[in-house]
Amino acid sequence: MRDSRTLIFRLMPDSLRGRIRLFSLLLIALPVLTSALLFGVFLKGRAEEQERFHLDVLLEQYAAEADDWLSRCMADVTFLAESEEARGLDMERLRVLLTGFSRTHQGFIALSYVDARGFTVLDPSGVPTGMDLSDRSYFLAARQGDATITDVITSRATGLPALVFAAPVRGPERDFRGLILGASSPAALDKMARLAATSEGRIIRILDRKGERVTGRSGPLAGVVGPPLESPLRELVFRNAPLPPMYADHAGRIVVGRSRILKDGQWVAVAETPLRVVHAGVWSFLTVAVLAALAVIILLTPALLRLTRSVEAPLEKMARMARAMEEDRPDMDCAPGAFREAPDEIRTLYDAFVHMTGKLRDTISQLAVCAITDPLTALANRRSLMDEGRRLAGVCRRSGVPFSVLMIDLDGFKQINDTLGHQAGDEVLRHVADQLRASARSTDFVARYGGEEFVVLAPGADAPQALSLAERLRAAVESEACPLDIQSVLCTVSIGTSTLDGAGTPEEALEAALGRADQALYQAKNAGRNRVRAFDPASPGS
Ligand code: GH3
Ligand code: MG
Ligand code: MG
Repeated sequence: MRDSRTLIFRLMPDSLRGRIRLFSLLLIALPVLTSALLFGVFLKGRAEEQERFHLDVLLEQYAAEADDWLSRCMADVTFLAESEEARGLDMERLRVLLTGFSRTHQGFIALSYVDARGFTVLDPSGVPTGMDLSDRSYFLAARQGDATITDVITSRATGLPALVFAAPVRGPERDFRGLILGASSPAALDKMARLAATSEGRIIRILDRKGERVTGRSGPLAGVVGPPLESPLRELVFRNAPLPPMYADHAGRIVVGRSRILKDGQWVAVAETPLRVVHAGVWSFLTVAVLAALAVIILLTPALLRLTRSVEAPLEKMARMARAMEEDRPDMDCAPGAFREAPDEIRTLYDAFVHMTGKLRDTISQLAVCAITDPLTALANRRSLMDEGRRLAGVCRRSGVPFSVLMIDLDGFKQINDTLGHQAGDEVLRHVADQLRASARSTDFVARYGGEEFVVLAPGADAPQALSLAERLRAAVESEACPLDIQSVLCTVSIGTSTLDGAGTPEEALEAALGRADQALYQAKNAGRNRVRAFDPASPGS
């Protein structure tokens, strides 16, 4: 047959114990997991927010340091360009000045004087003289009277990436007399970036307006800084607009990033932290929180099991008691007042159940007795007689043992009723019943057949034995008067006997024997009462 229950009910355990345990577990585990999940989402959001704030602070510091460094380098070059030695084009003294200066200012990889035509004239650091730099933007700017800091260029002299600081040299008439050129390695900015980033995984890089790397051209940041910034992000950062909450960096890592304009808008510094690093703290916090929750669950489990047991045990006992009653099994041990640990409602239910089953059992056994007992005489009633008769008829036939029945009727009983009243009649009936019960053999079955008629089933008795049993019963009744309040009443009985034959079923044989015994009783009555007759088909009235 197809199970029509929904899946959820099919997965649910059948027993109360299983369901209580399942729901208790769900009740504890679901809130813990849900709050861990929500808390996790909240914490992740906060961690990202904090990281952005932190990146802003780092960038501010870094920008200040970088701008400071650029200004210092520029100030150094301007100082040299405005020196007496440069302005007077005193090459010997300028050489001395530049040599001394490059010794005390290690940051410059080249420090040169370039003449007004654009040729290097003087460089104590070893840059060859006579190099034509007249096409360089910084030269053109210097000729216009402007000092310049370039983007990163590849040095014509060394082939290394360099930042060039150029300041024009002017004569007394402010005429252009060349420029002083200082070249610095952008590695200085890399070093500052590495120090500012402070944590593993966080990267600060500087990009120029073309998106090209200023930092990370060589040295330790070279592989980390990555290729030029792609255009949508580049536009955002140069507009000083906020970056998306998170985006993929050049290596495909999702990062949280912030940016800051540098060098009067020519450069931008971008600081990024991979999301994995930002969330690492959250995951470890959540792991600790979930482990703590699991520990609490484990600690609470014994108490929970005890609670469920205190509910399950009485209910299981009640279920066993109900099954035992249903199967009509012998009484179970079910004293009220057990399960003191159970909750009030369950204890009350259990006690009431025990009380109720006790009463039900008593009532059932009383009903069972009533169903087979005659209330006046306490003998077996007619229904019980017929049941027992059928059973004995079968047993006797199978074992080849004779089986006789005696039909007994009180003589002149109506007159006793009429003269002494019905209560006295009842008393007499009880008395006769007692006489019969006392005088019958232990194997005989004495029953009230109806009114003032009794039947005795006598298994093992053949016709003569039945007659002698009947005679004994008759004599017993006759021998003892029934004591009533005012007087004693002597009562007699007439008895007809018959023995079962082998015709028909045992039940049919019993019915026939009772009929014959009734006829024999009639014969006894006709013969004058207070006597015994075996069924005789030849007798009158048969
Ligand atoms: P006989 O010798 O021919 O048997 O005469 P009898 O008076 O005994 O027979 P009859 O059938 O005329 O009367 C039987 C009476 O038994 C009638 C009825 O009122 C009475 N009787 C039947 N059952 C009870 C009973 O339970 N209590 C009392 N007190 N009387 C009963
Ligand atoms: Mg009668
Ligand atoms: Mg009678």
